[in-house]
Amino acid sequence: MSYISTRGNIDKVNAAEAIRLGMVPKGGLFVPDEFPNVTIQELENLKGKSYQILSKKILSLFLNDFTEKEIEQCIALAYNSFNFENDETTPLVKLNERTYVMELWHGPTAAFKDMALQIMPHLLVKSKEITKVDKETVILVATSGDTGKAALEGFKDVEGIKIIVFYPEDGVSEVQKLQMNTTDGKNTYVIAVKGNFDDCQTGVKDIFSDFEYRKGIEQNNIEFSSANSINWGRLLPQIIYYFKAYISLLEKNAIKLGEEINFCVPTGNFGNILAGYYAKKMGLPIGKLICASNENKVLTDFFVTGKYDRNREFHKTMSPSMDILISSNLERFLFDITGKDADKINSWYKDLNEKGLFEVDTDTFNKMKEIIVVGYTNEIETKKTIKNIKDTYNYVADTHTAVALKVDNDMKNTIQGITVVDSTASPYKFSTSVINALEENNIDDEFYAVEKVAEISKTKVHRAVKGLKEKKVLHKKVISKEDMKDIIKEILK
Ligand SMILES: *Cc1c(COP(=O)(O)O)cnc(C)c1O
Repeated sequence: MSYISTRGNIDKVNAAEAIRLGMVPKGGLFVPDEFPNVTIQELENLKGKSYQILSKKILSLFLNDFTEKEIEQCIALAYNSFNFENDETTPLVKLNERTYVMELWHGPTAAFKDMALQIMPHLLVKSKEITKVDKETVILVATSGDTGKAALEGFKDVEGIKIIVFYPEDGVSEVQKLQMNTTDGKNTYVIAVKGNFDDCQTGVKDIFSDFEYRKGIEQNNIEFSSANSINWGRLLPQIIYYFKAYISLLEKNAIKLGEEINFCVPTGNFGNILAGYYAKKMGLPIGKLICASNENKVLTDFFVTGKYDRNREFHKTMSPSMDILISSNLERFLFDITGKDADKINSWYKDLNEKGLFEVDTDTFNKMKEIIVVGYTNEIETKKTIKNIKDTYNYVADTHTAVALKVDNDMKNTIQGITVVDSTASPYKFSTSVINALEENNIDDEFYAVEKVAEISKTKVHRAVKGLKEKKVLHKKVISKEDMKDIIKEILK
C-alpha cells in the first residue's frame, strides 16, 4: 500500500516514510491511496481474540513495508497489561439498551490519546530503520492538553528522539499542566505559549511548511516529525478500537453479525471520528458517525451549512481538548469524499489560510451529510448530563464524554440501533469540573476533587493522577507565540 498527499504535492511513499515524515513536506497530509477490506466473516472469526491479535490484523493491512515481526514487536510494547490496566484494553460499559460507553482511557495518561501514542513511538523507530534514516528525530507537538502528556509518556527516553511540546498557557486544566510539567526523561521539553491551542497548532504547522527554517535546522542531522493526529502513525492505531467495539458487541450477543451500529464521538481535531470513518470504509458495519462538539461548534456549523468558518469567538470550556477551531483531519475526510480531488483541497485550504473560511460545492456537501451527523451542546447542558448520567446509571463521565452523551441523547429518536459513545478521558482527569457538575458547588481545589471523584464513583484514582501533587515541576518556560521557532533553535543548539 502507498500513501499520497491530500494536496497532490508528493510522489507516493510507503508507510514507513509517511510515518517518519509526519506531514507532507510542502504541506498536506498523508493518506492511504486505497483502503483494505475486512469481511463480515473475518469479524466473526475475531470474536474472543485479544486486542493484540486484532491490532495485528488491522495494522498489517496498512503497514506492508513492515515485517510481521516488526508489527508484533510494536504491539507487544504498546498494548500490554502494564500500559493498559484493563483486560479488555477498551472496555464497553452498557448504560441502556441503545447506549454503550467505550472507555478509551485506561492507558498511562488517562486520555484516549494513549491508544495511539503508546504505539506510535515504536512505529516511528521502526520506520526510521526501514527507511534507513539515522538522523535524530525531533517531535513537535501542539497540544490542547491531552496529546502533550500522552506523547511525552510515549516518547520519553526513546533512543534517537527528542520531543518538544507546546501548550496554551491558560488553555489546559491544572491536572493536564502538572502532568506535562512534571515529566522526566532526558529528551523531553514542555513549553507554555501565550495564546490558544490554534496558535500552538498553527505555529507547529508553520514550522513544518517553512522550508528555509527546516533546512537550517535539518542540516545538523536532525529531522522534524509530528505526534499530532496529522501524522498517519497517530490515526492508524485509532481504527483498531472501532473494530474492537463491534466485536465486543458481537461477543455480548447485543448485535447480530452485519448489523449496523453508530458511534458518537466528542470531536476536536476530527482525528478520532475520522478513524471511525476509515473503519466504515473498510467494511465495518457502521450506520451513523455522530460528531459531537462543545460551544466551539465550527464543525456543527460546517455540516449544516457547507461553510467552514473559523472567524468566530473562541470559547474556553470545561472540555478543553475539544476547544479547537481548525480541525486538521477534516482535510483527510474531504479529500476522500471528493474522490481524492487535491485541486479542491488546495483551493479550500488556501481560502481557509487566507480568509479563515471556505465553502464546499453541493456534491461534496450532500455527500458529507450522508456520512456524518452533527450535534453540539453548551456548558450548562454538559454539567446537567454528568449529573443525569450519574443519577440514572450510576456512571461518572468526564466532561468530554458528557458532551457526546448529551448529543447522543438528543438523537435517540432519530437514529436507529445501538450507539457506542467514545469516552475519551477518565473523569479523574477533569475532576473539578466533574465534581462541580455533580454537587453544584464551586470547588477549585483539583486534588480535593480527585478524592471526591473516587468517593462518588467508588473507583480507584487513575494512576495518571495519583501522586501528581507531590511530583516536582521540571518544566517552567513560557513564551509568546511568535517565539516558537527561536525556542526550538535554542533547544537544538
Ligand atoms: C483529543 C481529545 C478529543 C478530541 O479528539 P480529536 O481526535 O481531536 O477529535 C476529545 N476528548 C479528549 C479527552 C481528548 O483528549
